[in-house]
Amino acid sequence: MAVIEIEAKTILATIHEPDGIFGIQYNMNLYRGCQHQCIYCDSRSQCYGIENFNDILVKRNALELLDRELARKRVKGVVGTGSMNDPYMPVEKHYNLTGQALKLIARRGFGVHINTKSDLVLRDLDTLREISRVHASVCLSISTTDDDLSRMIEPGAPPVSRRFAAIQALAEQGIAAGVCMMPVLPFLEDTVENIIALVERAAENGAGFIIPWFGMSLRDRQRAYYYEQLDRLFPGFREKYERAFGERYGCPARESNHLAEVFYKQCAQHGLETRVPPYRPQQEPKQYSLF
Ligand code: SF4
Repeated sequence: MAVIEIEAKTILATIHEPDGIFGIQYNMNLYRGCQHQCIYCDSRSQCYGIENFNDILVKRNALELLDRELARKRVKGVVGTGSMNDPYMPVEKHYNLTGQALKLIARRGFGVHINTKSDLVLRDLDTLREISRVHASVCLSISTTDDDLSRMIEPGAPPVSRRFAAIQALAEQGIAAGVCMMPVLPFLEDTVENIIALVERAAENGAGFIIPWFGMSLRDRQRAYYYEQLDRLFPGFREKYERAFGERYGCPARESNHLAEVFYKQCAQHGLETRVPPYRPQQEPKQYSLF
């Protein structure tokens, strides 16, 4: 795994059709490639053009670009990060690009939404608290409560017990924190017991929301890599996938409707939302004339 510094041309993408779940208006990726090396990662797909997902490309001019691009935005909003790589992968300890980007976001009056699998996010608690006056939300990506399974399928990321602890620490500081329960891997994680345990654990640790997706997607290079890892870690499972899904992109969990029913019922019982709290832009104070 090599770490290579590169020059980026732009850093902030505008989301033209917000999904209504994460509530972001802008997106940034400070790195390319991801050290967490989840065996199912969609970023390996050919369409993203990342030839060697093991190499970590660091956008060394990212902060300069971000500050300039934020200053030019006429509409304030929530900046998302963590869609194509993890903003808190180990290399971030050295480069601190995410930490410094958050400081720029705070200074420019934008909100932030972070997706991560790492408790390194706690390093930036003070900045997140500052941003939370506008909007700060953090999703810890968790699809099992079993540390051993998470170490197998997400070998470069902290185990799930540390991610639950991070949710608790964030929630205690008043940051909107929750779980991104995706993907739920068919045949490995798609049981009622796993879904119930996950919702209960999230609630115990102070999560405010869980965003679910009952299944996974698989295509080209991503599928080839995933199947290689299934052969190595879970012999016989590749054949189950091939029989169930063939070459299909969408690979739903077994009995996904039933799992969804159980999930929504459990969330309602524990008072958990199933979307990130919405961003509410602050109104500029109105000037009233006395006459
Ligand atoms: S943390 Fe996210 S981006 Fe990184 S390897 Fe895992 S799924 Fe991919």
